[in-house]
Amino acid sequence: MNSHIEQSAVTVLGLGPMGRALAGAFLDAGLRTTVWNRTPGRDRELIGRGAVSAASPEEAAGASELTVICVVNYDAVDTIVRPDVVAGALKGRTLVNLTADTPDRARDAAAWAAEHGIRYLDGAIMTPTTTIGTPAGVFLYSGPEELHREHRPVLDALGGAHTHLGEDIGRAAAYDIALLDIFWTAMTGYAHALAVARAEGVSARELAPFAKGIGSLFPPFFEQSAADVDSGAFSGEGNPITSAVSSMAHIVHASESHGIDAGVMRAAEGLARRAIGRGHGTDGFLRITDILNPG
Ligand code: NDP
Repeated sequence: MNSHIEQSAVTVLGLGPMGRALAGAFLDAGLRTTVWNRTPGRDRELIGRGAVSAASPEEAAGASELTVICVVNYDAVDTIVRPDVVAGALKGRTLVNLTADTPDRARDAAAWAAEHGIRYLDGAIMTPTTTIGTPAGVFLYSGPEELHREHRPVLDALGGAHTHLGEDIGRAAAYDIALLDIFWTAMTGYAHALAVARAEGVSARELAPFAKGIGSLFPPFFEQSAADVDSGAFSGEGNPITSAVSSMAHIVHASESHGIDAGVMRAAEGLARRAIGRGHGTDGFLRITDILNPG
């Protein structure tokens, strides 16, 4: 470790769009912040705002009690932190990993950290870079609660809501995967809808106010259906799977008549038909959760 670096409140490893947003929010909160990125030069603007640039990840890790890493995935995290010199610099300090990946990778990272005497919290960021440092940011954490409590004063500088989900280290990644599953499948549905609408001469601008209406159905539905799903009730009153599958078939036919790939909708329709085939035709659409996850 280089002794010429004065101690910082926090180190940020990884200066992609998200890492830069995190470091910027720490700086805006008046915290001394050390930064490092694999490709040099990404720290230029941050240095102009007072960030300390480290020449290597080990120098960066040695500069603060708390290191936040946010890179593309855990392969990149491993490449950065697992070399002995970096692990040595992190020993006895805290590493908060805000990189997105799977629960298994989070568990593996935690096991590695424990072997190397590194205090480890896993986390996930659920909102875009523009929310960082504002009340709109959403941060999820899992791992030792006292570690989260200890570093909250610094992490709070990122603004927004910070939720500790429990000691099970994979929990933040599990929420991240589930929430991004909603986001990306919904975005795929929206892109498909735009393609079908365009083929019918309906522009995105014309569709938007009504798309907004469809989107607004989701928040109350998430709340109202949760108890049913957790108890395995899947009530289909007013909207049984048999009715859902018929509207899905219309979408498939309409899009394929325009030569538009209906693969995503066909997959959904196939799940619904399997549920009906197992005698659940009068249940609600979420019965397909059981088809997907029979355990
Ligand atoms: P990226 O996911 O593109 O990550 C870019 C960062 O990863 C850069 O610092 C890049 O370094 C580094 N990196 C990539 N490969 C390697 C490698 N092999 N070794 C070392 N470093 C590597 O951009 P973001 O900053 O946007 O995302 C970071 C994380 O934040 C991701 O896990 C993402 O899912 C998550 N996130 C991002 C959001 C967003 O709005 N951007 C929203 C919520 C979460 P280099 O500059 O050298 O290429």
